[in-house]
Amino acid sequence: MTAVVHATGVQKSFGNHPALRGVDLLARPGEIVAITGPSGSGKSTLLHCLAGIVRADRGSITVAGHQLDAIGEEERSKLRRNEIGVLMQFGHLVAELTALQNVALPLLLRGESRASAAQRARTWLDRFAVGDLADRRPTQVSGGQAQRVAAARALVTEPAVLMADEPTGALDSLAGEELMAQVTLAARARGTTVLLVTHDARVAAHADREVVVRDGLVVGPPRARGAGGPSVTAEGPVAPGSPA
Ligand code: ADP
Repeated sequence: MTAVVHATGVQKSFGNHPALRGVDLLARPGEIVAITGPSGSGKSTLLHCLAGIVRADRGSITVAGHQLDAIGEEERSKLRRNEIGVLMQFGHLVAELTALQNVALPLLLRGESRASAAQRARTWLDRFAVGDLADRRPTQVSGGQAQRVAAARALVTEPAVLMADEPTGALDSLAGEELMAQVTLAARARGTTVLLVTHDARVAAHADREVVVRDGLVVGPPRARGAGGPSVTAEGPVAPGSPA
């Protein structure tokens, strides 16, 4: 099956510090892939490159059939609006807007009518069990609730891929567990591919497959997961010459 995310030889430096040194990564439709590794290994930089937020120096990145390095900023924005949902450690909700308005925003930005955007936003708030908080502003809800609203906003456009960077990093373990259960349920129901950066093994356990990043390189899967066993991990990309 065609990959939803396909990265080859991705390099990114900050000044003369190489954060990514030639990353290969592939995610298929509906796959949930955890990206783990030590702090400073390049996980967030990789996710930002894959989401088109940061431009890679070298290499090729294709997301939902669009080659990021071959298109201009306008097309990249359009791709981000339509095909990529982003969920960060701190939800970055707009403080002045209610939960409903925050979730409706991505739909309004791509030209949907107010009525339709509000209706869909309400459905997604319900899916994340925060429908009763629709009229609250971010400061009027708990951290866990705010992160659910952010998750609803990331998925409301039904993107091909959700890119999540330590989505539970600011939550206690119960709230984190609940968020991950809801995110993976929603993603699996829609065949959404998820790339999940985390240092937390309990969060990574929600994924179908895990790839480890070390010193700016994907160094392979750490272990087999799920019923597919080794054949699942065998599909995972491994940097040439690196230990599996
Ligand atoms: P991780 O997500 O695995 O903790 P990062 O991708 O955040 O790692 O960082 C990888 C490396 O790149 C680190 O050495 C970090 O200090 C550096 N880095 C990341 N972002 C920037 C930036 N905007 N400017 C300078 N250096 C950066």
